[in-house]
Amino acid sequence: MRTVLDARTSTGYGTRSRGGIHTVLDVETALAAADTAARLRDQLAAGERISGPAAQRALTAAADVPRFEGRIVPRTFAAKARAYLARDGIVLFDNPDALLICAFKRDTALCEPDPGANTPRQYDCRPGCANTVRIDTHARLPPPVGRRLRTNADRLRAAANTHDSTAQTAEALR
Ligand code: SF4
Repeated sequence: MRTVLDARTSTGYGTRSRGGIHTVLDVETALAAADTAARLRDQLAAGERISGPAAQRALTAAADVPRFEGRIVPRTFAAKARAYLARDGIVLFDNPDALLICAFKRDTALCEPDPGANTPRQYDCRPGCANTVRIDTHARLPPPVGRRLRTNADRLRAAANTHDSTAQTAEALR
């Protein structure tokens, strides 16, 4: 299964009209969500552990994932995609920026989705949300990300040290 957009991109479109490009976006979003559920099912089968307030719902979603195979998406798939996304609470959205999976449930979402929305506002994901799920993979920072964060921390620490050792009062500089 391939998706052109990931759910972070396709859910970022503001209007709730469901015609035209939004039909395509529903399909892409549903494919990405199903992909996330299928990946979670495989990761759990491989022995990864799961945590978070929405872990039970994520297990349900992972156990009930449809298989979308082939490269051609028929017209009728748009209605199926909409129905798939409408299953509030058991549709999974990968959010690698926040290192979590979102089991989106509108009423408990902290990212303030529009009324009636069936997708989270992942770019505004907030800590402490009841829709959060993590597996072991999320708890291990990928090495490049870890290196980048450490390098940035070193740079900020060095800048702070330089400031502390060279700072003077305005009076002294005059
Ligand atoms: S705030 Fe909650 S609902 Fe919104 S993206 Fe993050 S985990 Fe999902």
